[in-house]
Amino acid sequence: MYPQGSNNYRINFSGLGCWLTVIAIAWLLGAVGLGWVVKSIFVLVGLLIVTPVLAFMGFRWWLSRNLIEGTCPVCDTPLTGLNQAQMVCPNCRTPLQISREGFARFTPEGTVEVNAVDVTPGSDRADEAVEVTVEVLPPAEDER
Ligand SMILES: [Zn+2]
Repeated sequence: MYPQGSNNYRINFSGLGCWLTVIAIAWLLGAVGLGWVVKSIFVLVGLLIVTPVLAFMGFRWWLSRNLIEGTCPVCDTPLTGLNQAQMVCPNCRTPLQISREGFARFTPEGTVEVNAVDVTPGSDRADEAVEVTVEVLPPAEDER
């Protein structure tokens, strides 16, 4: 009643069988005169595969060039940031400018930074640097 061997006729869509099917369909379309469809599909599939890979590789390359690892110049906290960016140290709140050389204190223009040492006799923080930020105000207009 039932044709024998029908169970053995199975298309294996995994691995090689899948590719053979794709090639067979491509050949069929090419034979019918729709080769351009196959070509455009291949180009499309190629782009779909290549674009994310290229984007990922480009991103990796960009990251390796622009990801700067270093330590905070003030509190030595290990930091990671992007080149040419500015960030605030999460530990000591110091504004930092990131460059290829590492992390440097970022100070707005017109600000002079002074490291003062507390030398008060008897002070227990005698050898500790006291950070003092001095802002230079623009000269008054009536000044000669
Ligand atoms: Zn810090």
